[in-house]
Amino acid sequence: MTLDAQTRRDFPILERIVNGRPLVYLDSAASSQKPRTVIEAMARYYETSHANVHRSIHTLGEEATELYEMARDRVQRFIGAAAREEVVFTRGTTDAISIVAEVIGRTLKPGDEILVTDMEHHSNLVPWQVAARDRGARIRSVPLLGEGTLDLAALDRLLTQRTRVFAFAHVSNVLGTINPVADLVARARRAGAVTLVDGAQAVPHLPLDMSVLGCDFYAFSAHKMLGPTGLGVLYGRRARLEALEPARGGSEMIKEVWVDHATWNDLPWRFEPGTPPIAEAVGLTAAIEYLEKLGMERVREHEQALAVQTVELLSAIPPLMRWCGVVGTSRASFSVYNSSDEVSLLAHAVASLGTAP
Ligand code: PMP
Repeated sequence: MTLDAQTRRDFPILERIVNGRPLVYLDSAASSQKPRTVIEAMARYYETSHANVHRSIHTLGEEATELYEMARDRVQRFIGAAAREEVVFTRGTTDAISIVAEVIGRTLKPGDEILVTDMEHHSNLVPWQVAARDRGARIRSVPLLGEGTLDLAALDRLLTQRTRVFAFAHVSNVLGTINPVADLVARARRAGAVTLVDGAQAVPHLPLDMSVLGCDFYAFSAHKMLGPTGLGVLYGRRARLEALEPARGGSEMIKEVWVDHATWNDLPWRFEPGTPPIAEAVGLTAAIEYLEKLGMERVREHEQALAVQTVELLSAIPPLMRWCGVVGTSRASFSVYNSSDEVSLLAHAVASLGTAP
């Protein structure tokens, strides 16, 4: 059985009929659908174990804490982080990038530079713009070559002693370009820059190993990888996280507190103020279990095959669209539950645009 035949049935929402036809969902880059196991794990948590974590000394509090911290262990293994302390739960990719930008931003000096690239999502631009704004720091950007890859010669020219941070996407949300992270990190390190990788579009599709990538920070969202909304991960190399002041204050991030000052908790809780998304962490555990059962190599192969078929079918159509004067683009993105038949439907639908009255 192919991946899609097994998996499609695991996603209850795909049983829906939309506009009189079976749902074909091609917007997983925006947010993926959820397998039944994720939905059930979250419902089960609320039905049996919900309480606040870390501070509640009773059975439910202990169960909730255990489940929440288990999710951290699961993420650590899934991304090949060296230690559980390196996995910080956030509200999403945007939130994870914002935390780093906010804290590093406080240390920027006039003339410092933040390097981004021309393929960044605005979530990896705006936090840096805000951080640089009042500090006299400057945003610079690596241009792209014609085929949608980074101009590495330009990168090497742009990485200087002034570069404090190089922040870039692992996989582009528009082009699908997969950047050579380990190589980019090595170049940035030679220049003494901190690296932050926006992994929002990589984690759902590729096997990952932080020890191979070597970056300082890596950010991603649960909701794009079959998990729930409202939860993300900030991976940070321990030495880098240790050196960071907390971004925001309150509850779990403090060790001791007085009216006028406080001491910070240990990693990773130092960066997790307030009551965290506990049910969402339970859902993420289930999502990772689901992806691991499929195997990330198989996930990559499956989605690559869909992409190859898409390019093949659609490249026969664009000249016709150009002739029709059709402009504008629309993104189709895949996940584990998409099938070859759905790619054919997509091509058929795109072709019919050219013949619409
Ligand atoms: N970076 C990239 C590359 C993305 O595709 C997205 C989601 N569109 C984000 C960041 C932001 O993710 P979130 O909205 O989950 O914070």
